[in-house]
Amino acid sequence: MELDTIAAISTPMGEGAIAIVRLSGDDAIQIADKVYKGKQRLGEVESHTIHYGYIIDPQTGNKVEEVMVSVLRGPRTFTRENIIEINCHGGLVSVNRVLQLVLNEGARLAEPGEFTKRAFLNGRIDLSQAEGVIDLIRAKTDRAMNVALGQLDGRLSKKIKTLRQALLETVAHVEVNIDYPEYDAEEMTNQLLLEKAQFVYQEIEKLLETAAQGKILREGLATAIIGRPNVGKSSLLNSLVHENKAIVTDIPGTTRDVIEEYVNVRGVPLRLIDTAGIRETEDIVEKIGVERSRQALKAAQLILLVLNYSEELTKEDEALMEAIENMDAIIIVNKTDLEQKIDLERVKELAIDRSIVTTSLLRDEGVDELEEAIKELFFVAGIEGEDVTYVSNSRHIALLNQAKKSVQDAILAVENGMPVDMVQIDITRTWELLGEIIGDSVHESLIDQLFSQFCLGK
Ligand code: GDP
Ligand code: ZN
Repeated sequence: MELDTIAAISTPMGEGAIAIVRLSGDDAIQIADKVYKGKQRLGEVESHTIHYGYIIDPQTGNKVEEVMVSVLRGPRTFTRENIIEINCHGGLVSVNRVLQLVLNEGARLAEPGEFTKRAFLNGRIDLSQAEGVIDLIRAKTDRAMNVALGQLDGRLSKKIKTLRQALLETVAHVEVNIDYPEYDAEEMTNQLLLEKAQFVYQEIEKLLETAAQGKILREGLATAIIGRPNVGKSSLLNSLVHENKAIVTDIPGTTRDVIEEYVNVRGVPLRLIDTAGIRETEDIVEKIGVERSRQALKAAQLILLVLNYSEELTKEDEALMEAIENMDAIIIVNKTDLEQKIDLERVKELAIDRSIVTTSLLRDEGVDELEEAIKELFFVAGIEGEDVTYVSNSRHIALLNQAKKSVQDAILAVENGMPVDMVQIDITRTWELLGEIIGDSVHESLIDQLFSQFCLGK
């Protein structure tokens, strides 16, 4: 495949000081040589080596920037093409000048995600791995990072390939039977079909079971802090945000909802919704506190309901307890440093089987217990294991659901004694659907759309 040479600024995650101009393509090294001055020409150096030198403006001969340049010859690179990485130290202005110079010399500005797209187009990674890169860029906690990394090293791909192999074997087997009917008993073919189809069905189900959790890991568990005015909602928010490293999402191009805040509570990413209401405009919020709480409830997957230990339960408290009846919630009874007025027995009755945590946010007491309760609620026993293949990408989930349906059709067809070539249609369809997850038989436009989600320079 003949592709032009692309370039973009690609700053590594978490490193602010260094900015990299990355080039990929057949002419990457020649183009870099036009603007680079060092001991050797880059065209003459060994692959996978780093070189100190200067970027010069070829028009004027002036030094623009002191740099380290990595030379990586294809195909042993991320894109399988020649790659040049120019490490600049001088901040955004000079890195932009360096980029401008390589563009002047014949490179084209890369589209978002185009480096990864090339890795895919050149066969270096499959589609689910490419999507792993997207998720990695967006990963919000270590655990989400692990899911993305797992996808990147092809854990999901391997699983999908195993399933497709099983389906292929049944198709081959059926073909033999159609061509040589005397060769095998129909009975046996049905038995084999059924076994393989059921195996695939069960494996797809297992993958889908991880989906809900995978999605939460990726997007954060939508969490609402609710309660009457003055019970300690803002204090709780502050303590969660301060105790747990707030998660930075400084990904260019992603618009961050200003009223949301992410915190990582023992591996559970919480997306605290409606925090603007809790943080600022206190006066207004206090007036409409309960009404606002009801609003927040609608969007939430986890409720943190705060009650006041030093006051009797009010009608509003009880109304909120009732409003969250069918939701995952933790009840926080705050201000235990003050004299008890609340009827804890009554709280237990209303809480049904939910965790109740007592806190004094003023004294920073009880926050550990609260975090433990959040973790326990989220990580249902057994699913925490490190080697679980989480499915977290919504495109994958949709395809898995379709594949499940179609393999189920196959199972039903066998059970109803349909002719094998009818069954085979469903099996083939399942095989195709699973193939779409790893990018076999995917539409070109779908690929473009996927890669445009990347940030520039990846
Ligand atoms: P919100 O209206 O629900 O957001 O409540 P705030 O977090 O703004 O707290 C209301 C008041 O209660 C503030 O003056 C806090 O300092 C105070 N407060 C919060 N937590 C505690 C606590 O555990 N003990 C005591 N004594 N006061 C607290
Ligand atoms: Zn408040």
